[in-house]
Amino acid sequence: MDETHVAVRCDDCSFAAAYDRLRDARTAVDDHESTTGHGVDWEIQSLDAGVSRAGADAGVCGRPGCANEDSPLVDPDPPEPESER
Ligand SMILES: [Zn+2]
Repeated sequence: MDETHVAVRCDDCSFAAAYDRLRDARTAVDDHESTTGHGVDWEIQSLDAGVSRAGADAGVCGRPGCANEDSPLVDPDPPEPESER
């Protein structure tokens, strides 16, 4: 999953860019939105077709981890912290 490609495109101006890392894309989007107040679109393009499809289906978050709450990849019950007291 190290072949992630994120395309960023602004709806309100000609700003467009592509990033290899989700974190870089998020930073760029946040920066542009906070600076200009524009609405930036971004699309995850990964060699893993399943990830791309999940992101497109969700269309809200864009992060593969939270794209589909029903996904078996997401554990709805976080492990309880061990109390050693
Ligand atoms: Zn813009």
